[in-house]
Amino acid sequence: MEMLKLLPKILDAEKLARKHSIIEGSLLLSSLNEVSQYKNSKDATVTGSFKFYRDKNKRVFIDGVINTELQLTCQRCMQPVLYPIASKFTLACIDNQEQEEQLSEQHESVLLNNGKLAVFDMLQEEILLAMPIVAYHDVKDCTGITNYSCKDKSGNSDRCSQKTSNSKNPFAILKHLKCD
Ligand SMILES: [Zn+2]
Repeated sequence: MEMLKLLPKILDAEKLARKHSIIEGSLLLSSLNEVSQYKNSKDATVTGSFKFYRDKNKRVFIDGVINTELQLTCQRCMQPVLYPIASKFTLACIDNQEQEEQLSEQHESVLLNNGKLAVFDMLQEEILLAMPIVAYHDVKDCTGITNYSCKDKSGNSDRCSQKTSNSKNPFAILKHLKCD
């Protein structure tokens, strides 16, 4: 596999959009202050691909994809769990807050500074947005699961399999706890 080059801290979004450029690269998670605590090793990276373009109103847009793996804490056993993050997003670039108010609500926006994009801030923001509210191991990998009774009041153990199928939904467990 080709080595991805390092993403720069700043990109000239206006210029890249004029040329319909695609920027790809990677970055150490440790260089992103707010998410560096979630790295699972010191050389853990985030990779990204960003397409710059302008819409018919000449507004600059970015279509981005980021991929990384974060080490979060499983809320069942309180042990580390590796969580893949794969996020796709479209950002409308704005130069000031006034423009943000003019934007239709379906667009997430990013503030440029004289046409320049703060790449690290954008990555950090998108990783935080893509992070789950709570993380769990798969049921089969979680040591905390033995603390839960798999039997309901009638001694039926069907709920174990139910829990497995719900494990993708972070709220399933919370709901389960509440109902008990
Ligand atoms: Zn666990």
